[in-house]
Amino acid sequence: MPNMELKRNPMPVQDPKIRSKNFFEVALGYDELTAINEAERCLNCKNMPCVAGCPVNIHIPAFIQKVKEGDFEAAYQIITKTSSLPAVCGRVCPQETQCEARCVRGIKGESVGIGRLERFVADWHNEHSDLNVTAAQPNSKRVAVVGSGPSGLTCAGDLAKKGYKVTVFEALHKAGGVLVYGIPEFRLPKVIVQKEIDTLKALGVEINTNTVIGKTLTVDELFDMGYDAVFIGSGAGLPRFMNIPGENLKGVYSANEYLTRVNLMKAYKDNSNTPVKKGGRVAVVGGGNVAMDAARTALRLGADKVYIVYRRSLDELPARREEVEHAMEEGIEFHLLNNPVEILGFNNPDDPRDVRNGTVTGMKVIKMQLGEPDERGRRRPVEIPDSEFTLSVDTVIMAIGTSPNPLIKNTTSGLEINQKGGIIVSEETGATTKEGVYAGGDAVTGAATVISAMGAGKTAAKAIDEYLTK
Ligand code: FAD
Ligand code: SF4
Ligand code: SF4
Repeated sequence: MPNMELKRNPMPVQDPKIRSKNFFEVALGYDELTAINEAERCLNCKNMPCVAGCPVNIHIPAFIQKVKEGDFEAAYQIITKTSSLPAVCGRVCPQETQCEARCVRGIKGESVGIGRLERFVADWHNEHSDLNVTAAQPNSKRVAVVGSGPSGLTCAGDLAKKGYKVTVFEALHKAGGVLVYGIPEFRLPKVIVQKEIDTLKALGVEINTNTVIGKTLTVDELFDMGYDAVFIGSGAGLPRFMNIPGENLKGVYSANEYLTRVNLMKAYKDNSNTPVKKGGRVAVVGGGNVAMDAARTALRLGADKVYIVYRRSLDELPARREEVEHAMEEGIEFHLLNNPVEILGFNNPDDPRDVRNGTVTGMKVIKMQLGEPDERGRRRPVEIPDSEFTLSVDTVIMAIGTSPNPLIKNTTSGLEINQKGGIIVSEETGATTKEGVYAGGDAVTGAATVISAMGAGKTAAKAIDEYLTK
């Protein structure tokens, strides 16, 4: 008999008062009994609507069936037939708009906690199994992968399993892409990402960090070096700014820079020398996952007050609902229907050597209301005349989006991009306009999701294999 409880099993979490002061993971995961109880809520639907909601079509009812039976390793094997990063996706996938949005249990109650079960299964496997992979019989072909985010790691792994000699070239000093430099430890512990990278290395993948393609080497030079194909998974790391007065003041960061300093350059450690402003009042501009991550990171670094400043209302906030709720529980204040018009700075005209000159003191903000829907159907925010006010802050973090960096396109012959800077590819194969070069993930779509980047890496790996064996 299925478990007909309308509500899903709650995810145990750290107390908000305690977690807002540490970087340990917020969500603690299901134990075995809770996982089985949650799995029993699944009706094993014949038409599997949930599977259609998963960008990589994980066979959800089949893996949940194995959880019900307590055969967690078999559940893991089913998931990894189509997904290479289940411990990551189980944590950060926007499940509520993907697989779980289609779950029939959601019609009269809460959907099955598919993401939570996926996370449980992956964590169980990681705890109970050794790194036990066998490198495939090598073939003579070499593939270069640019970027070590989820798209690059997935493409590299799939090709290595087929015997290709794969080298990943990563600009930063650590592999993992946004999974290590963007998403904070309290949402995605870095040991999980490291485990994926160790698996790739065990498969024979070589990872060259501190190598910027387009500067250290060009894509054309990779072919000269003997690579037979190239996959570009360089992400969308170029931050956008609002172009308002004061954005060049000391104390204004892009979210990417701020999070990189804290995550990758370890500014969260008490004894760290990494320069980043800690404490005081912090305003984060934007309403996506990146904004929530930056705000909650600032809080954990000791900020007295952290504000989210977003120009639309709560209903339009693009961040995952769970992250918004966690941020609110931790005490982040939301200034909704508010838009910055100027960042204000300190100026002592009597003493140009005053070190406070040019530092942020506040943000001029205007109130907004929602007008007519735009071309995407979202109601357009419109300024309310004469409604400006000043928010007193010491740090401003801009989290209003990113786009792909043009460096690779500018240094590669024959590679075409679209108006938003994304590399143009065939949807079916990931093939670019240049022979032998494939691309996927945020470098193609602009900022998107881990699972879509992973799916693109898989598609390209399959197409590269076909290209090199034809
Ligand atoms: P990336 O992960 O960006 O990796 C690209 C890699 O390429 C980087 O390591 C970069 O250093 C490297 N690189 C760039 N240029 C070069 C070059 N010229 N030469 C060599 N290497 C280069 N998605 C979700 O699904 N759920 C979430 O909760 C979520 N939260 C997020 C929070 C933050 C703070 C951010 C920034 C993003 C978040 N995302 C989330 C989005 C998700 O992380 C990305 O969509 C995904 O990582 C894209 O993968 P990718 O492989 O295309 O690129
Ligand atoms: Fe759902 Fe994401 Fe897992 Fe697919 S990968 S089943 S969308 S949590
Ligand atoms: Fe189970 Fe929901 Fe999928 Fe049906 S839709 S198989 S109940 S997870």
